[in-house]
Amino acid sequence: MPRQTDFVSFLSEPDLLQRMLVACPDGVIATDKDHRIILFTGASEAIFGFSPVEVMHHDLGTLFASAQGYELVVERLHNESTVANLQVQAVRKDASPFAAAVSAAAMTDRYGEYLGIIAYIRDYTAVQGIEDALRDNNAELNRLVSELDHVAKQDHLTGMLHRGSAMEAAKEALIACALGGQSFGVVLFDLDLFKSINDSYGHLMGDEVLRDLSGVLRQATRGADIIGRFGGEEFIAFLPGAELPAVKAFAERVRVAIEKSLVRIGDDATISATISAGVAAIPSCAATLPEAISIADNRLYAAKRAGRNCVIDSDTEFARSAA
Ligand code: GH3
Ligand code: MG
Ligand code: MG
Repeated sequence: MPRQTDFVSFLSEPDLLQRMLVACPDGVIATDKDHRIILFTGASEAIFGFSPVEVMHHDLGTLFASAQGYELVVERLHNESTVANLQVQAVRKDASPFAAAVSAAAMTDRYGEYLGIIAYIRDYTAVQGIEDALRDNNAELNRLVSELDHVAKQDHLTGMLHRGSAMEAAKEALIACALGGQSFGVVLFDLDLFKSINDSYGHLMGDEVLRDLSGVLRQATRGADIIGRFGGEEFIAFLPGAELPAVKAFAERVRVAIEKSLVRIGDDATISATISAGVAAIPSCAATLPEAISIADNRLYAAKRAGRNCVIDSDTEFARSAA
């Protein structure tokens, strides 16, 4: 650290300014009051490809791709007397344009008389390249995160939402329905005697049947409906806006479609399966989601007791079939 006196003498070195200009990694350019170049440092030469003699006394605008870039700098300087890191298009000697960041100040003498401009030019191409790459990477990262989020919410065998995600989606949809004074349907499905399909054809073939039949269920739903795999061979459907009769009609449609559906195993053999369902709706049967699911579950149990391959939407039927 130089002592104070050393520092003062250092600052008064006659070639200090020249050494600072040579050391500056940005191109330093000074102009006269008519914006003709009167200083063009080595770094400017490296950036633009012009030697100082080639640009000396030429208009500063020669170094910019569009008059607009140059005029922007001059206009800003006129209004604010400095500009910092203004991004403009500059042009090299070989006429190739490049992104430049310009910092500049209007120079005046001690009486306020305008002397010209001193400008620091930085080749922004590399920075812009990095920024572009970062932007692309971020977009790709966001895409992967949302893909991952989507995959994390899915049951990998059936491609349906898994139980937790279906419940989350249902909670949101129920709030919207409650606010709009709309009904909200809930159906619990359970494949009938699925254990015997596994026992007869093996677990892998059982998986195939589950995948196939979940596709049949998916096809029966509309855009706003939420379906999920609730457990092993159990599925749940939430139907925003559906009153109990419409919920029952939906469950019945699924039941019939599954009954008719044949899952191909091997070249010419097929398996068929049936499904049972319990149906409820908010607010006609229950006040809350857990309550509606519990009622649908009881009605599903009643459907099993009633002989399977049927849909139950009332507790009278439950009482009758459970008796
Ligand atoms: P019910 O009509 O009373 O529902 O009879 P069920 O045989 O379907 O019911 P149970 O609860 O006795 O058996 C369910 C079977 O579903 C047993 C289980 O191995 C099978 N299962 C559950 N998840 C899967 C799965 O991911 N793949 C296969 N292949 N089978 C599954
Ligand atoms: Mg079952
Ligand atoms: Mg079950």
